[in-house]
Amino acid sequence: MLYFSHPACLEHDPGQGLPGHPERPERLRAVEEALGERDWLGWERRKAPAASEEELLLVHPREHVEGIRELCRSGGGAIDVDTYAGEASYEAALRAAGAACEMVRALLSGEARVGFSAGRPPGHHAEPSRAMGFCLFDNVAVAATLALAELGLERVFILDWDVHHGNGTAEIFRRRDDVLFASIHQGGIFPGTGAREDVGSGPGEGFTLNLPVPAGSEEDLWLSLLEREVLPAAARFEPQLVLISAGFDAHRDDPLAGCRLEASSFGRMAATVRDAAAEWQAPVGAVLEGGYHLQALADSALATMSALAGEGEAWRS
Ligand SMILES: [Zn+2]
Repeated sequence: MLYFSHPACLEHDPGQGLPGHPERPERLRAVEEALGERDWLGWERRKAPAASEEELLLVHPREHVEGIRELCRSGGGAIDVDTYAGEASYEAALRAAGAACEMVRALLSGEARVGFSAGRPPGHHAEPSRAMGFCLFDNVAVAATLALAELGLERVFILDWDVHHGNGTAEIFRRRDDVLFASIHQGGIFPGTGAREDVGSGPGEGFTLNLPVPAGSEEDLWLSLLEREVLPAAARFEPQLVLISAGFDAHRDDPLAGCRLEASSFGRMAATVRDAAAEWQAPVGAVLEGGYHLQALADSALATMSALAGEGEAWRS
């Protein structure tokens, strides 16, 4: 089990420009402090390399990459009402994307069967040419595309269980049939996309699975959608790699949304994915997205890592 992050990811601080911003460095610190108290659950820690420009260009046009770099170089500023990049944000963003890429390389080289990429800023709202929703580059999409373009894979399955729809990842892969993108998210909140009727376009039709749930949804609904809709579709797809856009803001304590999962719910979802992936003989890597209640985030991330590592048979009962 391999855990990827980098100290630079702690230097990105949207609160510098947008006071009181929920996507704060303390999020990652909370996860790492909780892991430290439990001997990192036996996971090996690795420092993420910076993503190369070539890797970012797999997903984002050069103008977008250069625009973010120049904004940061010039001192930074708000990109929209909730997305900010400061001087330290470019390096953080490179490490966040690099963590996901390095995790995928390690998984595909057979070094580990499971990985966790804990970068900030998060990524799944970043569209090819637009930073939004706290996200600058789409980390999971860059890593998935790397696997397809450079590492010889033909089919990657991305499960996005962040409470918000992963609009960026959805747009990036909308027209492709080599990425199955499935998102369970609360309907009617940011970013407003992700209707069930949206199943992808052109050659990508049928390779996008959007499953909005109402506010107040609990573990039973999330797990049943995962087991009855997402995993059967993924099994037909026969993925060679499973990536989880792992946001933890569907937790009942999260301040940004209204779902009611517990930390153990994320463990159950992770165990369910782990068991399915074992049948497909596909490695599993989780990429940190949202989660804004510090304790809930730490507890949920640890439950996910424990389950991915195969601990806690109780998750399954
Ligand atoms: Zn979210």
